[in-house]
This record gives sequence, C-alpha cells and structure tokens, in this order.
Amino acid sequence: MSVGLFDKYASLKANYDSLMASSPRNPFGVVIERPLSATVGIIEGRETLLFGTNNYLGLSQSTDARDAAIKTAQTMGVGTTGSRIANGTFGLHAKLEEALAKTFQRRHAMVFSTGYQANLGTISALVNKDDILFLDADSHASIYDGARLSGAQVIRFRHNDPADLEKRVARTANHKGARLIVAEGIYSMTGNIAPLNEFVEIKKRHNVPLMVDEAHSFGVLGTNGRGVAEVQNCEKDIDFIVGTFSKSLGTVGGYCVTDHDEIDLMRLCSRPYMFTASLPPEIIAATLAALDELTGRPDLRQKLQDNAARLHQGFKSVGLNTSNFISPVIAVTLENIPQAITFWNALLEAGVYVNLSLPPATPDNRPLLRCSVMAAHSAEEIDRAVAAFGHIAKELGVTA
Ligand code: PMP
Repeated sequence: MSVGLFDKYASLKANYDSLMASSPRNPFGVVIERPLSATVGIIEGRETLLFGTNNYLGLSQSTDARDAAIKTAQTMGVGTTGSRIANGTFGLHAKLEEALAKTFQRRHAMVFSTGYQANLGTISALVNKDDILFLDADSHASIYDGARLSGAQVIRFRHNDPADLEKRVARTANHKGARLIVAEGIYSMTGNIAPLNEFVEIKKRHNVPLMVDEAHSFGVLGTNGRGVAEVQNCEKDIDFIVGTFSKSLGTVGGYCVTDHDEIDLMRLCSRPYMFTASLPPEIIAATLAALDELTGRPDLRQKLQDNAARLHQGFKSVGLNTSNFISPVIAVTLENIPQAITFWNALLEAGVYVNLSLPPATPDNRPLLRCSVMAAHSAEEIDRAVAAFGHIAKELGVTA
C-alpha cells in the first residue's frame, strides 16, 4: 500500500488534536476582526489589548503611511505583476533602496518582497554547497531555510555565545570554501540581545564575514534606530545587515544593506529575489513614509524603551519568569504546555492578546507567552496587561 501524503503528520496531528481538546479556541487561528488603533483590536467581538504584534512603533496605523499608500495606489495601481529581473524595476524600488542605503549609511541596499525572503535571498546568494555557515542555535526559521536553500554546511553555535562561536570558527581555519557567520540583533522569541561587538572581534580575528538580521531591532534600538549594531558601535564591521519592513515600519517587505559592491551580482544569484513578484508601489510608498517617521521621530524609540521597561518591571513585580534583557519583546516562560494553554486562554478572555509559543518552536523546549510592546501603548494599557497576568498567575499558581 502506498504511503499517504499526510501520513507523516500523524504525530503532529495527535499533538494538535490534544491541544485543541484542551483549549477552548485555536491558539494559532486567532482572528483580529478589526484593528481599532495600533494597540486595540476586536477579537471575538470584544475590544482587546494587542500585546502580540511586532508593530513596535505603531506605524501600521501611521496616517502618513496610509495617505502615501492610497495616493500611490490611485496613481500607479496596486501591483508590479512580476519580478524585477524579468519584468522590470519601478522607480519606487530604486528610491526605497536609496533611502535604506542612506538610513544605514551604506553604499548599497537590495529590497525583497518579505523579510523571510531577505534572509533566504541573501544567505543563498552568499554561500553554496562548498561553504560553511555558522548559525546561532536560536536563529529564526528564515535563516535556517536560507541555509538549506544555499546547500552550505551548517555549524550551529550556542545561542549568544562568542566563545563557542570562536571555537567552531577556529576549527575550520583550513576549510577550502567560503565561510559566513550569521546572527540576529534582538531574538524574536525571547527578546535576548546579541553581543554583536564580540562577534565582530571574532570575525576580524578569523577573517570571516558577518551577516546580522536586525528584524526586531531596526527602528527599536540605537539613537538613529539602526539596531543593536548601532548601540554596540560596530555597524561598519558587519558585512551584511538584513531586516524587514513588517515590524517597526508596519508594512511588508525586507532588505539587505552592505558596502560590498557585488550587490548586482547578488541580485542575479538570489532565487528568492529573482523568481517572485517585487513589492507593489503602494507598499513601497507606505514604507518610505514610515521610514521618514522612524528616522525623524526618536521620541517614538524613547517611548518604546520606557514602555518595555514598564512591562518588564511589571512582570517581575508579579513574580513572572522573563529574560533579563529589557527589549520590546518580553516573553514569560512557563513550566509546561497545559499551563501555557490555560494561561493564554485566560488572558484572551481578560481582553489581552499575546502570542502562545510552544515547543519545539521555542528555545529550551519550554512554552512561552510572547509579548511585544509598542511605543503606542499607554502606561494604563501596560498596567492593565500586567494586572491580568498577575491575577491569572496567582490563580494558576505560577511562580518564577
Ligand atoms: N527574521 C526574523 C528574526 C524574524 O523574526 C522574522 C519574522 N518574524 C523574519 C526574519 C521574517 O520577516 P517577515 O515576517 O517580514 O517575512
């Protein structure tokens, strides 16, 4: 008898069925019926506080970005209907690349249709089957998928551990092919911040290029919002910085910025760039408007930091277990999956939406309630969320 297409999912199905039996709603099918603002949306007919987005600066609701999108859609239409290599570049693509290169003070920028594709497209353009990639063990799926697409040998190093990275890099000193180190700025699940300045020292000592994904740190950290590398004063030593428009800029798309002049070669070697439709004009216009706001409003970053500190301090004060890093991603670690499911449902019923993250998608195989804070949250909204967390934790007997 032949094997069915879905037979391989038997154990996934068993886990999913048992999750659904223990949860009054599907945690992976939450419908935000309508956003009312950046911080409040209608879920299950109720006004709900949104603490489960990546909308760090609240710019998905920016008036300037919305106006730019509408105006551009009216004058230029809503799509490009093809890839830039095959079907042509719009002037707006070039304008966005110039704006990004200027923002990051780099010679070149390349934009992709999503942040996921930015990682796939950059990694697979830079390394191939003869090469080695050093990946932080907690890397985002798009980095692992980029590695697969490239065919390069993957050597994982312990999360945020420069000594472990250096040991592994040193062992491959005689490797015949190229090598590339990849890390992130802020890690998306835990909010941990990478020691990029230490990775830079390693890259220099061993002469191995470094690529950093600042998806969650762009617009969030640094005086000019250029992320962890800006804070740690090591931007110029990072060969490729990758990121996304879908978080602090509130739209969709991704980018890679670099001073390497081979960028046009990368465009020709990057399947996720070449074989997919390019960003539509109204999204580019909204992204350009949001980029102006991101760079021109340092007050948003200050507010975001203050809000992150308030939420972090609030969780500590009600005895919850979180990372020691204060960043806009704050995850509460729980002991087991049933407890996490009950906690998450109770939060939603109390009008607070956060992300339920379950093993194996989480570091250390422990469930997380992943929260993200925004510049747009008021102190009162944060305090309300903390109170809901505190109340439920007490009822469930959860302690740090
Ligand atoms: N990199 C990281 C670290 C991410 O967390 C994400 C998305 N969560 C991506 C890349 C992909 O970005 P996008 O969703 O914009 O495709």
